[in-house]
Amino acid sequence: MSVSGLPPYDDQNVFARILRGEIPCRKVHEDPHALAFHDINPQAPVHVLVIPKGRWVSAADFHANAPEAEVAGFWRAVGLVARQLGLEQGGYRILSNMGPDAGQEVPHFHVHIFGGRRLGRMIPPPAA
Ligand code: AMP
Repeated sequence: MSVSGLPPYDDQNVFARILRGEIPCRKVHEDPHALAFHDINPQAPVHVLVIPKGRWVSAADFHANAPEAEVAGFWRAVGLVARQLGLEQGGYRILSNMGPDAGQEVPHFHVHIFGGRRLGRMIPPPAA
């Protein structure tokens, strides 16, 4: 499946550099398909990022173009990480920002896992 308007993958993006070991991270999980680490600027008591190891720009790119085994392996890792973080009883939120309207900052597909407190509204109301 083709996705229109995708930028080319930037090998210098910060998550590519973390995957190559050029920048440190606080790792919580790694397997053949995914790496999970604490967000550098946490928005909740638990805020972990899960990234695929492949060169996917965004959620749109990943879900259209990644091989089935990588898609399955990645999402299994998201569930496993949330469980390992002890979030299943209290609950958690998973979120992926895709493109400018969502404010995606890093052009390597990633999922945020938030937890550790009541997280409130899913989307804040628009500024008045
Ligand atoms: P997004 O806006 O969805 O692209 O989210 C990018 C996230 O990456 C933000 O929550 C940043 O705090 C986080 N981030 C940026 N650089 C790093 C880094 N070196 N280590 C961990 N998290 C980072």
